[in-house]
Order: sequence, then C-alpha cells, then structure tokens
Amino acid sequence: MTITKLRRQLLAGETTPAAILESLAGQIAARDGQTGAYLTHDLESALAEAAQSDLSLPLGGIPIAIKDNINVLGQPCTCGSKFLRNYVSPYDASVIRKLRAAGAIPFGRMNMDEFAMGSATENSALQVTRNPRDLSRIPGGSSGGSAAAVADLTAIAALGSDTGGSIRQPASHCGVVGLKPSYGRVSRYGLVAFASSLDQIGPITQTVEDAALILQAISGSDPLDSTCLDAPVPDFLAGLHDGVKGLKLGIPKEYFGHGIAPGVRKAVESAIESLATQGAEIVEISLPHTEHAVATYYVLAPAEASSNLSRFDGIRYGHRASNPIDILDLYKKSREQGFGPEVKRRIILGTYVLSSGYYDAYYSRAQKVRILVQRDFENAFKQVDAILSPVSPSPARKIGQFSDDPLHEYLSDIFTIAANLAGIPGISVPCGTTDDDGGNNLPVGIQILAPRLGEAKLLQIAKAVESRDVI
Ligand code: GLN
Repeated sequence: MTITKLRRQLLAGETTPAAILESLAGQIAARDGQTGAYLTHDLESALAEAAQSDLSLPLGGIPIAIKDNINVLGQPCTCGSKFLRNYVSPYDASVIRKLRAAGAIPFGRMNMDEFAMGSATENSALQVTRNPRDLSRIPGGSSGGSAAAVADLTAIAALGSDTGGSIRQPASHCGVVGLKPSYGRVSRYGLVAFASSLDQIGPITQTVEDAALILQAISGSDPLDSTCLDAPVPDFLAGLHDGVKGLKLGIPKEYFGHGIAPGVRKAVESAIESLATQGAEIVEISLPHTEHAVATYYVLAPAEASSNLSRFDGIRYGHRASNPIDILDLYKKSREQGFGPEVKRRIILGTYVLSSGYYDAYYSRAQKVRILVQRDFENAFKQVDAILSPVSPSPARKIGQFSDDPLHEYLSDIFTIAANLAGIPGISVPCGTTDDDGGNNLPVGIQILAPRLGEAKLLQIAKAVESRDVI
C-alpha cells in the first residue's frame, strides 16, 4: 500500500492508523527475519502516537521508517555502529518534527552502513541486511535497511540520508524510488553528520507521488541548521502529471562509456527512449570533470568525516572503554573498540589529507576540483532541463563479493557522487530489470538530476518514467 492509497482509505474510514501499524508489525514479524532491514521497532509507543493522529494533516496516520542516523526522541540511534549501540536520542531531528507536524508516525529504525560509510549495508556493525528481490545479494547502501523494507513491503515509506548516493543507490538496487534533495532543501539538524557539506535527508518510497508527499513535509528553512535554505517550497504535487513534452533532457557522454553492465544500460536506455516517445527532446551533453568526481569525493568526504567523528571520544557519547590508564588511553581505546574497519579507514584517510604537509596537495586541490564539477552542471543546465543517467554501473552484487576491496566499492559510486559535490537534487526511479552478473530480474534504476532547487521538475520527469508502461 502506498501513502496515497492509505490516505484515501483512512479518510474514507476504511482503516485506522492503529490497524495500519498492526498490519505492518505483522509483516515485519513474518518477513524481516529474512531481510534484516529493521534494527528495532516499538509498536507500543507508535500505537500511542497513532491514537492522537490528526487525519486532516497531509501524512495523518502514516507510519514512516527512519534510517538509524536520524534522531527520534526516546529511540535508539545507533548509526549502525557498536559505538552507539546503547545510545538513546534526547531530541527529535528537524525532519522528525516536520513529519510529526504533517501527521506522520516515525516507526522503526533501519539498518545502515556504519555512520553511512558504504554502498552495501555490509559495513553495519550490527546485522546483515539482504535484498528482498534476491536474498543472496546486498540491498545497496548506506540506506540499505530503508530501501529493503520499502521494497519488501514491511515499510510504507522511509527516510534515508545521501552523502554520495546512499538514498539513490539502494533504491535502485531494491526497485523503489529514492530522492536526494538539493543541498539545503531539507534541514540536517538531528542527522548524525558524516560529511556536512554533502549530507542530505530524503525519502525512499514505492512511488514518485509518495516521494513528493514526504519531500513536501520535510522541506523548508530551519533556524537550527544554518545551511538549510530559506527558499520558498513549491507544491511538489502540482505539476507531477505534466509530462515531459517539450523538455530537453541531457545524456552525459561520460556516463555511458564502458564499465556499465549490458542489462543496466539496456534498461536505462529503454526508459530514455520512452521519455523521447512521450515528447522529450534528448540531447548529448558533456560533464568533462566526471572522471575526477570519485577521487574528489573520497578526499572531501573522509576529511569532513574525520572532523565530525572526533566527537566520539568515549566521554560524551556512546561506548566508553573500561580500565583506561589515562584520558588519552580512554580516547584511544574507546575509538579502537567502538569504530569498525571502514570508519577507521575513513578517519585515517581524512586526517591524512587534512594534515599540514598534505593539505594543499589533497584537501585544497579537491575543493578546487569540486568547483569544476559544479561548473560542469551549471554549463549543462544552460542547455537542458534535466540530466539522465544510470544510478549504478551494475545491479546489486552478492553479499561478501568485493567486501575486501574498498576501491571497487568507491568506484561504483561514480554516477551518484557528483550530485552531492554540486549540491543538486537527484532521484532514482525503477526502470526495468536485468539478469547481469548471474542475477534473475534484478532491479535497475534510472537517475534524473536537475538544477539546484529543481525538485518539482525532477519529480515530474520521474513520474513520466514511472508511468511509461501505461501511456
Ligand atoms: N558510498 C558512499 C560512501 O561510502 C556514499 C555514502 C552515503 O551517501 N552516505 O561514502
């Protein structure tokens, strides 16, 4: 059931918020043992909230699953880390306040790569999450729990976070919709920071319309996050059905080179063809600095992470080592015991690129290249309304495959990270399936990128991709 359908039933008196929650809890009990998308869920407190639901609100009575790096008052917020295994949030993130103000009920904490570092959810220190479309495969990441639950119908919709693709890539791998808003469209207050200049919270849903509904609720300025823009929030549903007739859509030639699995290419190209059939003009464009995007991201994101994660010192938050010799030993032991290998790798990398002898060679050079990547998009958007590309070069891989090869993982982020570097919005919409890599009907997503604050246009094009079969 989508949000749209459930809202209709709620308003017609055919169901109640409590009945929806009970039925979800039943689904979770029946299915989540296999998928492992949920870290925890608290039916009782959700039912208590449901009793107060105001059905006249846009998301009145709708439960929404929350990635475990977004603070919800009184709930755990582990970030998939042993460090925060016993941490309980003392406040609501701004997105949670906004969801509640729209009538939604936060329900369930979703597994993720530790501190959102990864593309498989295999870096979670807490449990394995499987792709519901093929249980031998990863759901993608880092918002893997959120995407897997929405695909498995154990959640109606979810929130994820995206620093370099963590909403769009798992949405693509699980066959659901995932939207990363423009940087500053949605408040980051209460999102545990990974790389503050790249992080954004966004919806993972079954349909484009549901994504628009959630985005509507969580967008807008916030005095608690100075990077959150004071820009007007348009009605994201108003133009949803306007189609793509007359729109110019760009295909970056750098994104369709070799390295894309043949079935992924075929599915993406068939969606592009259908947009052309629906009246869009398809033009080739160039994003010349694409080849440097991965390297740029993997300097800047770890640099910011190494700084953000310095707050985990064993004193103020989470895990504290026992029997330290002195305060320095306490810091060292707590961090040594609390962080997993990928998080340590990022902290070491980030500390290195920020250190005085290497700062200019790595960090400040990456900042310059980031501007070149931004300019690529500015130039492209002088010619086209939006850009189309694959989300990931290949479908969901097997659990365990390449897990000891971080570089392989980093390179697979090639199509998603540029949007974060440029601060523009991106969405992944299911566009077919593939049998690549020995798979059987593995989902493939197409990515649509729009200019900054162009979410309305993005959703409009996404809707045209979603409706292509019925046109
Ligand atoms: N896969 C990327 C990384 O590991 C992106 C993660 C994210 O978007 N949170 O950093």
